[in-house]
Amino acid sequence: MFSNLADSLDKTFRNLRGVGKISESNITDALRDIRLALLEADVEFGVAKEFVAHVKEKAVGADVLKSIKPGEQIVKIFHDELAELLGGDQVPLDLTPPARILLCGLNGAGKTTTAGKLANRLKKEGRKPLLVAIDLYRPAAIDQLAVLGKQIGVPVYTPEASETDVVKVAREALAWAETQPHNVIIFDTAGRQEVDERLVEELKRLHQFVQPQETLLVADSATGQQAVSVAKHFDEAVGISGIILTKLDGDARGGAALSMRAVTGKPIKFAGEGEKLDQLFEFHPNRMADRILGMGDIVGMVEQVASKIDEKDAMKSMQRLAEGKFDFYDFLDQMKMLQKLGDMKGLLGLLPGFNKIKKQIPDAAFDPKRMKRTEAIVLSMTPDERRRPEIIKQSRRDRIAKGSGTKLVEVNQLLKQFGEMRKMMRSPNKMNKMMKQMGGGM
Ligand code: GDP
Repeated sequence: MFSNLADSLDKTFRNLRGVGKISESNITDALRDIRLALLEADVEFGVAKEFVAHVKEKAVGADVLKSIKPGEQIVKIFHDELAELLGGDQVPLDLTPPARILLCGLNGAGKTTTAGKLANRLKKEGRKPLLVAIDLYRPAAIDQLAVLGKQIGVPVYTPEASETDVVKVAREALAWAETQPHNVIIFDTAGRQEVDERLVEELKRLHQFVQPQETLLVADSATGQQAVSVAKHFDEAVGISGIILTKLDGDARGGAALSMRAVTGKPIKFAGEGEKLDQLFEFHPNRMADRILGMGDIVGMVEQVASKIDEKDAMKSMQRLAEGKFDFYDFLDQMKMLQKLGDMKGLLGLLPGFNKIKKQIPDAAFDPKRMKRTEAIVLSMTPDERRRPEIIKQSRRDRIAKGSGTKLVEVNQLLKQFGEMRKMMRSPNKMNKMMKQMGGGM
């Protein structure tokens, strides 16, 4: 997401870097390029125009700070305007009791998946969510929610197949909820191919009855401007309290994310970035602006890593490394941690500048199948071999390759890499250099 926009902006700002002082004449070209880049990213025309006017006003009027170069200053102005456009501060969910969340949106936007993701998130935060399926037209959607609920261990209310009245279902669901320990209820409602009268009427009745604290529109960011107009329609019909943008992991141009807030006035509260149930993230305008400008989102990355990896495990592993005791048992532990992280490419995308080098990294480097093969090799070693890899000579290598169903070259390669890694760990100078390169120091 946003990589094309990030690329064009990068070029524009590079041109400005040599400029001694910002003036109306030397930023005119840059502003035109910015506007084009925004339009190409499918940002709504009026939004792009107004945005550029704001940047211009601030840039031309700005006192040139002595400490930063003009080129950098305009990047900062642009960044702050972008964060403002995306909504300023992050807006948290209103979960005052009786916390009820109504999810609405068109078919295929990712509503049901998002209901599961949201329940999963709330549960991990220590809350007790319930899920209620009120899509009376698509039995498959009800089954889908039931399956998701089972996966994450959240109870799901599923209506009778013959039921046709949404208010009746909601009433029964609330009665059922009383029999379950809970402190938040998520309602997954019916969608349509497009916003039509019947859908709106039904949603209005449901909304009136449920009286939710949060009415969140689930919108597919890949549909660009259409997502924005859908949000406007839903807002006029029932009054939404916020937006969840899905499929931000895709290649779409990102315009929906950028125009959504300005056009609807409603905050984007969460972003879906993948099909998995843990790929729903709080939407932080500031961090998103960083990402668009290729500055990365380190905080987001640390949060994602922390939610999946136990700090104690990570520290133990670091300790063993530092003591030079690293063996194939530690290696296996580390592989398990990496596998838990899941989507490595997505995660690395949060590093500053990663988008620029992404194309040079082969996809194989993130291939879970390859990790599985490496794991198989280690699992085919005897305990003694794992502890003392130096004893693994030719005949043992043949046996390991056979046992793991891999090729001898793969075994050789792994042992070579492991040997090099160990050598580096044992050499304080090299470690020190590496840490310095990483910005640390020892
Ligand atoms: P609904 O009709 O609105 O309930 O949509 P679904 O929840 O059935 O989702 C439609 C499709 O979009 C499914 O294949 C989901 O796996 C996929 N999907 C949902 N959210 C995301 C997301 O954030 N990223 C990606 N890549 N796919 C998503």
